[in-house]
Amino acid sequence: MNEETFVIVGAGLAGAKAAETLRADGFDGRVVLVGSEHELPYERPPLSKQYLAGEAERDSAHVHPREFYDEQRIELIAGVAATEVDTAEHRVGLADGRTVGYERLLIATGATPRRPPIDGIDRALTLRTLPDADALRAAFGAGGNVAVIGAGWIGCEVAAAARAHGCEVALIERGATPLEAVLGSDLGALFADLHRSHGVNLVTGAAVAAIEGDRVRLADGTEIACDTVVVGVGVAPDTRLATAAGLEVDNGILADEHLRTSAADVFAAGDVANAVHPHYGRRVRVEHWANALNQGPAAARSMLGGEEAYAKLPYFFSDQYELGMEYIGLHGPTDRLVIRRPGDELALRALWLDAADRVTAGMHINQWDSIEEIERLIESGEAVAEAFR
Ligand code: FAD
Repeated sequence: MNEETFVIVGAGLAGAKAAETLRADGFDGRVVLVGSEHELPYERPPLSKQYLAGEAERDSAHVHPREFYDEQRIELIAGVAATEVDTAEHRVGLADGRTVGYERLLIATGATPRRPPIDGIDRALTLRTLPDADALRAAFGAGGNVAVIGAGWIGCEVAAAARAHGCEVALIERGATPLEAVLGSDLGALFADLHRSHGVNLVTGAAVAAIEGDRVRLADGTEIACDTVVVGVGVAPDTRLATAAGLEVDNGILADEHLRTSAADVFAAGDVANAVHPHYGRRVRVEHWANALNQGPAAARSMLGGEEAYAKLPYFFSDQYELGMEYIGLHGPTDRLVIRRPGDELALRALWLDAADRVTAGMHINQWDSIEEIERLIESGEAVAEAFR
């Protein structure tokens, strides 16, 4: 019997998948999974899609049913935050006063929503957790006017879900189009058309000055009625525990390609990890579902002594109304965007090319057989043929 204890702090997708992998790969010691939320570990994408739209049950988001953790001898401590890590003594302190010693520790504490400094921001809801989604689902179910501040991924999906409930929706964005910062203005314009065609009042180039009672007031004096205000302007990696423990932190917990942090026997995975990526030769922090899904297991294998580098390309998906899309890779600000549309319908394939015509990233809309080919093009590192340019 193995006497070692492996502790995982953060019972989200990365943490749950790491625990699962420790057992699947034969670790026979103690596995302790500590999560501050009073929930079984769950996946977040349904919170802005099927669950929020009222099309899925709450527990469909769970990574595993409760029995799984008992069967796998994973000690799930839910509703208790880890408050302290002593890397010299190899100990984790918990908010309930307990201390757990570890041979290896994984920190997978995820990210938390940013709240912009706007007057009345306390009146706005954010969407990160299942209870957040419960509150929004109830508010949308009551109907009325919904104002969504920020037309990034979360804002766009929340707007679509609110429309599915029949709410009047205003989507307020500082940029010229939705998703401009991540996809650029050409593709952003397509998302603008999509939301407007579904009856969303999309207000772009707008600065929110204040939230006052049942109004969002813009800097130009425009007032937008709101029974519910949601703010979705990005997240910040939750590095508090790691910083207090003296780990190296810079836009996330710094880790090497094996997801090892600056402290001996401490690893990081998921939204909180800023890890060296072999394809890019630099650190990359990815705030996406597939990264948590794959990096949790990769960290677990490193905890078990594996030497394989984590090299999966960043990947992201979104669903809004009848639009489904996937994006893979990582494009730079000066990369050239090439868009191919097969016809008039809502479908396309897009590639970003660097100065040497190598594919750095690609995406599709409603062309579900595209993503593997784009992945191969990126990984080949070769200039693409004339037909793609
Ligand atoms: P998290 O899921 O954030 O889990 C971290 C957990 O650690 C949290 O439960 C937190 O409470 C806990 N924790 C933090 N500090 C402590 C502590 N000190 N002690 C104990 N526990 C602690 N990605 C996509 O690719 N496609 C999508 O369509 C998509 N949709 C999304 C929709 C929503 C509404 C949200 C919020 C995210 C979405 N994402 C999507 C992003 C994706 O869900 C995240 O990348 C993923 O959840 C990251 O997983 P994680 O395990 O790293 O972190």
